[in-house]
Amino acid sequence: MTSTNALPIFIGHNDTLLSLYLPERGNGRNFFIRSDQGHIDLPRAREAGLGGGFFAVFVPPDPSMSRSAEANLIITDTGYEVRMPPALDVSYAQRVTIALTAGLFRLEAESKGQVKVVRSTGELVTCLRESILAAILHFEGAEAIDPGLDALEVFYQAGLRSLGIVWSRPNAFAHGVPFKFPHSPDTGPGLTSAGKELVRACNRLGIMLDLSHLNERGFWDVAELSDVPLVATHSNAYALTPSTRNLTDKQLDAIKESEGIVGLNFGVNDLREDGNNDPDTPLDIVVRHLNYLVEHLGIDCVGLGSDFDGTRIPREIGDVTGLPKLITALRDHGYDEVALRKLAYENWVRVLNNTWR
Ligand SMILES: [Zn+2]
Repeated sequence: MTSTNALPIFIGHNDTLLSLYLPERGNGRNFFIRSDQGHIDLPRAREAGLGGGFFAVFVPPDPSMSRSAEANLIITDTGYEVRMPPALDVSYAQRVTIALTAGLFRLEAESKGQVKVVRSTGELVTCLRESILAAILHFEGAEAIDPGLDALEVFYQAGLRSLGIVWSRPNAFAHGVPFKFPHSPDTGPGLTSAGKELVRACNRLGIMLDLSHLNERGFWDVAELSDVPLVATHSNAYALTPSTRNLTDKQLDAIKESEGIVGLNFGVNDLREDGNNDPDTPLDIVVRHLNYLVEHLGIDCVGLGSDFDGTRIPREIGDVTGLPKLITALRDHGYDEVALRKLAYENWVRVLNNTWR
């Protein structure tokens, strides 16, 4: 490990695949060449001591169907509101999903052994030990899955090990939260009957379910149905930042009870008490938010989520190379080496070990 802290760090969410797939989003960057654009490429990941993470396949809105994200943002007197993007067509979602998934497998193939798509915790632990970047194939939103779940079986065989039931838009399975501040995550109905079947199928196959972006009623439906730990890969505490994307104390209690995990989201919108999209957000705010999660969930049920390449993060973190700085700040705030290892990767490994079959 070339990192200064000799601690592999595993992150719950990144959108690097999308930045590589859409040159206009990633400014044409190449994963293997160091860049100052975006948050992750291989040279920066190695410098940071990044051990691995969930690599999200996110299907952007169909350009022929929708307005730009900016056109959907409404600034209100007390915060903001983003109009809910429309549901996606399954065949469009499958085409983009296959392209992004192929992108991940090509990275693995071109990496000369430096990147591995992991399908078991044995593989994950080996990668963390040997400084091979471990990538878990994750879909952020189940739009590419048909309600009959045929695609789920096929994608599982290809390597899918984690599934966000929804992003912040509705689909055949559930309803995502529209981005809103201040507003409760209780924004609409729970899982559809196809959504309940999806939860059972993921439990059976050993696909981790990610509850970030799911609305509160959907969350409780999963909590009731699922027989594995509850996971929110990149979400924060509603008590500190009352946005729809964050988890209420009751939700945190349920995650703790299931011995699940919350991955701290670095998105400034969901970290700051004022919900402002301001990158001048001190590291102290990040640490404070993590402290709150640890107080409520205990040291065994918190990890780092990040949302690298998916959102605006504090300038003090900057990109993946800011992770050691965060670890140092946590150490300065009294986290000992045992606690730091749990937060950095051990809690993720434990949850995956109890989820993947
Ligand atoms: Zn997200």
